[in-house]
Amino acid sequence: MPNLSKRLDGFGESIIRKMTRISNQYGAINLSQGFPDFDPPKEITDALKVIADTGPHQYEITWGAQVFRDELSRKQSAYMGLKINPNENIVVTCGSTEAMMVAMLSVCDIGDKVAVFSPFYENYGADAILSGAAPLFVELVPPNFSFDPIKLEETLKNGAKAIILCNPSNPSGKVFSLDELKIIADLAVKYDAFVITDEVYEHIVYKPYKHIYIASLPGMFERTISCSSLSKTYSITGWRLGYVIAPERIINVCKKVHDFLTVGAAAPLQHAAVVGLAFKDSYYDLLLKEYERKRSIFLDGLRQAGLSFFEPQGAYYTLVDISALNPYQTDQEFCEWMIKTIGVAAVPGSSFFRQKENRYIRFHFAKRDETLRAAIEKLKKLKQYKRGNIL
Ligand code: GLN
Repeated sequence: MPNLSKRLDGFGESIIRKMTRISNQYGAINLSQGFPDFDPPKEITDALKVIADTGPHQYEITWGAQVFRDELSRKQSAYMGLKINPNENIVVTCGSTEAMMVAMLSVCDIGDKVAVFSPFYENYGADAILSGAAPLFVELVPPNFSFDPIKLEETLKNGAKAIILCNPSNPSGKVFSLDELKIIADLAVKYDAFVITDEVYEHIVYKPYKHIYIASLPGMFERTISCSSLSKTYSITGWRLGYVIAPERIINVCKKVHDFLTVGAAAPLQHAAVVGLAFKDSYYDLLLKEYERKRSIFLDGLRQAGLSFFEPQGAYYTLVDISALNPYQTDQEFCEWMIKTIGVAAVPGSSFFRQKENRYIRFHFAKRDETLRAAIEKLKKLKQYKRGNIL
């Protein structure tokens, strides 16, 4: 038999998705892969019911239904403080996952390099490799997950053509400050690089932190490819609705990539989701309040369970330090043990870090309050496994 593509030799199955599989197998509470166990807004699901009868059920315009792009441009223009043209600046994709891939394929030729902050959401490494580029990593150093601008500059000196920026950041919960964004922007301009963002948690930023779109900084729109999605904002992760926002010169290339990659995002779902895009600002205020409450339920619970963790500034993840627990070989093995013994699933931290790391596991708290409380009750059992206690 001929060999299969060597391109994929370097990476295995997504650890995040794998943990969901193992969690389901053992019936654990799944706080690994980040998705809600509560319903999306009723207005959106009601709209879907109507569309089931009325359609459309056939292909939409490849770069997104007109009505979806119109409403998205209105909403994002207001939030980003930019004039987003629905026809010139948007491609609707199958989730931010496709948006990022479209961005990478639009920017990179084989042999190119991109800068990736580490810890990072595991897709970015794979996206880079699939698009023929090599990732150059820049460490985000705990506890603030700050970066050394000199290290970022080095990646650009070494030829990084784009900087991948996940803000608010998964898995660290870091929200990049204006000063940090300015450093990134200045370096992108100085070295004539693109910035590719993943801003799917744009509406989940805890006070006093504030989400700033790097595309909104002076001179940045022209070199920024902003990727985001409706998954987290409207609790519809399975709908796979995302988008790329960029200047026309870039979007014209993104349109081509997307056209040949997926043709388009699901037409009925785009039409139903328009209802969500048209929500008033109060919807986003309420969403944040919900997550503020969930964050405090979960973090208080972790404290009660005697666990130490990084308090997220945004998004819905927390990295928990397991180094004070009884010895384990790998964080992967620890997570599998925890699923079987404690009944709660997390993602091994090492899957997010470029640097060698075996100390963290990532939980998400996008779950109903009662699910979080049930998880906490189980996690309290970890107290017996503190170093020094007998297993
Ligand atoms: N962003 C989510 C996470 O980090 C999951 C995304 C996915 O699996 N597509 O868990």
